[in-house]
Amino acid sequence: LFITLEGPDGGGKTTQAQQLARWFRLYGRETVITREPGGTATAESIRELVLDPALDLSPETETLLQLAARADHVDQVIRPALEAGKVVICDRFTDSTMVYQGILRDMDLAQLRKLNDFATRGLRPDVTLLLDGDPRELVKRRENRGTVDKFELQGLAYQDRIRAGYLRLAQEEPERILVVDALREPEVVTEEIICSLERFV
Ligand code: C5P
Ligand code: MG
Repeated sequence: LFITLEGPDGGGKTTQAQQLARWFRLYGRETVITREPGGTATAESIRELVLDPALDLSPETETLLQLAARADHVDQVIRPALEAGKVVICDRFTDSTMVYQGILRDMDLAQLRKLNDFATRGLRPDVTLLLDGDPRELVKRRENRGTVDKFELQGLAYQDRIRAGYLRLAQEEPERILVVDALREPEVVTEEIICSLERFV
């Protein structure tokens, strides 16, 4: 079972990933929790490049770096774990590329979809949880958390585009992408996610 968590920053993806992993382990399922960009030594090095505010990457360069990181992550971590029958929970995956590189940087989405499939050799999530909320509310969480990277400094108009981009993807693939209201208490969000996963486990 391959689950990905998506959404703008501050929606609680990392927290929900941890809670979900806890729940699966409680039920005796071996569970791997990982993140993108990152998840392997190579991909974490690439993460430093793509998040470096001093580098001015073209959309193509940024996309190919993200995809290189993903290819390594799928090959080294995600596919082996799935083949061993484990649950894999990944904080960001292909939909982040569609939104952050595709929609925000104005790349051809059909082409990006093909590139994603190339990088993952066709591996797609069984289910994707989109932690959605008004950026005006989510921004408060980011400020409280105190870890703000270069992408998070770009203001509300930018955050609105991210949200709209994700919602558009969810509309196109309602079977895979479940929209979750992330503005409620974390425990309530976890409950709802677990209920919605019942049909996948
Ligand atoms: O989710 P996390 O905070 O670890 O992601 C770090 C940043 O990387 C995000 O703020 C996001 O803006 C950016 N990102 C991106 N393209 C991706 C994945 C993440 O620009 N494909
Ligand atoms: Mg972030």
